[in-house]
Amino acid sequence: MVKALYLHIPFCSQKCPYCDFVSFVEAPLDHRAYLELLLRELELYRDFEILPESLYFGGGTPSLIKPELYAWFFKELSKRIDLSHVEEASLEINPEDYSLEDFSKLRDTGINRVSIGVQSLREEGLRALGRKHTVKRAVETVENAHRAGFENINIDLIFGYEGQTAEELKEELERALELPIKHLSLYLLTPYEDTQFGHLYERGLLKLPSEDSIADMYELACELLEGAGFYHYEVSNFALEGFQCRHNLAYWSHEEFLGLGVSAWSFINKVRFGNTRNIRLYARKVLEGKKPVEYEEVLEGKELLYDYLFTALRTSRGVPKELLRGLEPELYEFFEEKGGRLALNRRGMLLINEVLLRLKKAILL
Ligand code: SF4
Repeated sequence: MVKALYLHIPFCSQKCPYCDFVSFVEAPLDHRAYLELLLRELELYRDFEILPESLYFGGGTPSLIKPELYAWFFKELSKRIDLSHVEEASLEINPEDYSLEDFSKLRDTGINRVSIGVQSLREEGLRALGRKHTVKRAVETVENAHRAGFENINIDLIFGYEGQTAEELKEELERALELPIKHLSLYLLTPYEDTQFGHLYERGLLKLPSEDSIADMYELACELLEGAGFYHYEVSNFALEGFQCRHNLAYWSHEEFLGLGVSAWSFINKVRFGNTRNIRLYARKVLEGKKPVEYEEVLEGKELLYDYLFTALRTSRGVPKELLRGLEPELYEFFEEKGGRLALNRRGMLLINEVLLRLKKAILL
């Protein structure tokens, strides 16, 4: 049964230099037309049992769509699926978009968790990341969400940008902890291929902190946030008790989920499938009554095991110990044992990509 529903909103007002998500500054569709497509796409899955306990509007920039339109969308959604079991409905928000009034209206739509893309609490950090909002605006946005009645607030921060020191990260985190937040996602800046930063980095024009500095920053962040009562429950995620993101935990627990929208991924019946990244093709297929799926992988045997490890090892809960028997001895240095399970230790979390690559070779080859 599908208990987690993801909705991809691909609109953005600018393309950030580090971003590799599918989003469009000039989309060929208006917001309402796109939301209608999501509803039509959902209807193509009427054979599946969909009873969501979590909804997640990610992007892109979902906050480019006004709350009034989400109110309409929720009404339409509830005509198609039972929403009475939804416990968490998240919406990603950029600081420049919503006012206090917008947050108040959003509260009435069914959204009960907001994830605000603060990214940095230093002006220099925001400039280094190519963001156009200010620290003041980001802080006001978090406060407005809280004032409007949102209790479950996440902020995203990025660390490891050009010129950042561990001391500066510490200041940012201390500032973050003064905000009325329950959850904090802290992502390491990665210069992905095919992004502006990726190109600059390849040409040696973007100087990022050394591996040692990054390790120090990660260590410092974990200490500081855990010291403030934020449980480090996933590589990049920290939450106060009772505020872990249940939607993302569904991904990391290998539960089934359905993703709607251009470029959205799903995992149902041991099949991972992904929609086209081409918004025109997405629209055409949905209007023709066809699923806009472009990639599909049926997972069995070792592939299914690796897929599980790939997702579950991101969490501090880890995986049953017996699944990791017989690995090269050096790999165990990245793990710690907790009650019959193995989870990545802090160093393992920091180097997760390397660990997963070595695991992949050990399991699949
Ligand atoms: S980081 Fe967010 S706001 Fe920036 S381009 Fe990507 S999706 Fe859009």
